[in-house]
Amino acid sequence: MIVFDYDACIKCGKCEKICPSLAIAIDDYPELRYADKCWHCCACIKECPAGAIRLRLPPHIGDQRYELLAFEDGKDVVYQVFFEGNVVDEMRIRVRR
Ligand code: SF4
Ligand code: SF4
Repeated sequence: MIVFDYDACIKCGKCEKICPSLAIAIDDYPELRYADKCWHCCACIKECPAGAIRLRLPPHIGDQRYELLAFEDGKDVVYQVFFEGNVVDEMRIRVRR
């Protein structure tokens, strides 16, 4: 499930615009209003300029305490797995431009 950090969110609206399944809606702050439409593509996480979105991994992968953060680093897209706030695994995928 997508989770938002409202302390970090700068209310830019990018997550709502980028979501291919229109699962995010923004009134004041963004929320996953149509959770059943989210297919966990991580586009909103990767594009958020504030790093304010994470994917809370479901029990069949880790459990609800594991979270995934995705961001760009030069030519790589980096996926970090967090457990209780600490990075426990990291994957880098080189992106062809
Ligand atoms: S993209 Fe990130 S900073 Fe912008 S509104 Fe969404 S959560 Fe907030
Ligand atoms: S993970 Fe993908 S489908 Fe789910 S809310 Fe983010 S952009 Fe939309």
